[in-house]
Amino acid sequence: MFSTAFLDIPALQGASGTVTLPGSKSISNRVLLLSALCQGTTVVHDLLDSDDTRVMLAALRQLGCGVEVQGTTVTITGLGGRTWPTEAIEFFMGNAGTAMRPLTAALAVQGGDFTLKGVPRMHERPIGDLVDALRELGCAIDYLGNEGYPPLRIRQPALQLDKPIPVRGDVSSQFLTALLMALPLAAQDRAITIEVVGELISKPYIEITLNLLARYGIAVERQGWERFVIPAGSRYQSPGTIHVEADASSASYFIALGAIAKGDGIRIQGVGADSIQGDIRFMDAAAQMGAHITSGPNWLEIQRGAWPLKGITLDCNHIPDAAMTLAVMALYADGPTTLRNIASWRVKETDRIVAMATESRKLGATVEEGPDWITIHPLPAGKWQRASVHTYDDHRVAMCFSLAAFNADQVPVRIEDPKCVAKTFPDYFEALFSVAHTAASNIPVICIDGPTASGKGTLASRVAAALGYHYLDSGALYRVTAHAALQAGLTLEAIDEAKIADLARSLPVHFEGEQVLLNNVDVTDAIRSEQGGMNASKVSVLPAVREALVQLQHSFQRLPGLLADGRDMGTVIFPEAPLKVFLTASATQRAERRHKQLISKGFSANIDALRADLEARDARDMSRSVAPLKPAQDALQLDNSSLTIEASVEQVMVWWQSRQVFG
Ligand code: C5P
Repeated sequence: MFSTAFLDIPALQGASGTVTLPGSKSISNRVLLLSALCQGTTVVHDLLDSDDTRVMLAALRQLGCGVEVQGTTVTITGLGGRTWPTEAIEFFMGNAGTAMRPLTAALAVQGGDFTLKGVPRMHERPIGDLVDALRELGCAIDYLGNEGYPPLRIRQPALQLDKPIPVRGDVSSQFLTALLMALPLAAQDRAITIEVVGELISKPYIEITLNLLARYGIAVERQGWERFVIPAGSRYQSPGTIHVEADASSASYFIALGAIAKGDGIRIQGVGADSIQGDIRFMDAAAQMGAHITSGPNWLEIQRGAWPLKGITLDCNHIPDAAMTLAVMALYADGPTTLRNIASWRVKETDRIVAMATESRKLGATVEEGPDWITIHPLPAGKWQRASVHTYDDHRVAMCFSLAAFNADQVPVRIEDPKCVAKTFPDYFEALFSVAHTAASNIPVICIDGPTASGKGTLASRVAAALGYHYLDSGALYRVTAHAALQAGLTLEAIDEAKIADLARSLPVHFEGEQVLLNNVDVTDAIRSEQGGMNASKVSVLPAVREALVQLQHSFQRLPGLLADGRDMGTVIFPEAPLKVFLTASATQRAERRHKQLISKGFSANIDALRADLEARDARDMSRSVAPLKPAQDALQLDNSSLTIEASVEQVMVWWQSRQVFG
């Protein structure tokens, strides 16, 4: 997951390959709650791991459910047939609507002493219509803040189930879903009828609910979309095992990707055209815009068809979430696209009509909006602007606008707060980068070099972490090469140069965080020693060895960018790098730092000896004929003698930002 402040997506040129998508959010949280209301144990496979499901799992644990998590398989031991907690419990629901609504209903029907709170945005998301319906049937619910909004306090109900329960259907279908899942708890000796007031929106989500209720033994009788009857004697029954489909809304980004990007097509694993999720119908809208789509059980394949895409006008009531993806596809169309009947966008994670309009305009697009519609005009070549896209803590805004990186003007796109995708798809950007490609010249490299003990490794890895970039520790490659050569019984001298170069060309090296693996064996400590550094120095003066490592070093230049640390990064390996930093510090400072480091590791050390050693090494490094230590001509010098590491990182970030201006 990218947990950086922003993510700069380089201009992208194509995409091909397969993505496996995480489980559906809607199905995951419904299945968790239904499993919790059953008697006995349910094994849930392919569960989505996200903020929303974590919120639900935490709440279920608080209620006393058995919850065992093993990767994406979760075993739930339900509350059915057991006593519910009587003590006061406070639940924190974050911004998880799919947890807040159904839990409120289930807790209110069951009764107890419960408080439900969330983040500030959750306290702005209406819940009054659900509370009204629950009060109608005798539930005791109080507002702790503003009337009609969380936080809520729930007490013991006095249920009156003899007359139909009215619920509004035109604000959020989650209210009806919540009632449908809660009322079987109260339908032991009588049937219960729910009546929808107003036009029911998002019907496909109700279909998911009914479908899953059936899997848990509740056969709701649906009369049109106006009345739903829960039969008398309803009782939750565990299906034993259940598989969660991949998220069809998440699939929309990759369906759009296949329609927009040049390449051999995109295959999506985990969901097919026969999905029970309404958002799968996004594929019809995408096809209408030009995508070429085929499908089988549990998979989809998408190829670019019409190009440019075709502008459309569409009633999006049946695909409210996925429809946002159409708004970004519209930028690549031959005429305007109008999305109608999307009033529900206004009450989601953010006001999504405002968000999509505002951010599309930043890219240069012309957009018109109304109370429940939006029109997006295509953005022709020559008009795209480098934009910093604000994401409003809304995962879908972030994912949608990543697709703007395929723009005709080849400008990069900045996505602010990329970690907000964690709500439904924590590894979204990783999945995107695993199939997207672009010219190497579009993938930025920042080079950091400097004398030994200047702190370049620490600085480079910190800047890489701040930008979400890959990190190449080129020194480690020389260290590993020397290690492998010694293991193979070679000397580190010129007579074995060709053999060492052969080893280096196909070096089975792997980096996992701080760890360095050679042939899957951890060699981190072995290569990090002083001796390891000396050995690296020896092999690094052999020209054939340097040549043999070039390709491996180039292979680190991957999306979204690279921090390259070491000797010839800015001069030989990545001469076109847009930012090169030469880090220095006085010999005294470096000796003190090395001294501290050694002492803290329990070695004895003498500062004066260390300093003399460093100075000798500097002289040797600067005067050696192969890859001498010298700043690249266009490198910026940074003397960090009196700077903290944070201040050095800040300086490099300032230099970088001044070269990467986003409007
Ligand atoms: O950076 P590190 O201390 O791990 O590097 C070990 C040695 O490898 C350096 O002292 C230098 O002689 C050599 N080296 C090199 N070219 C690089 C990185 C390291 O010659 N790009």
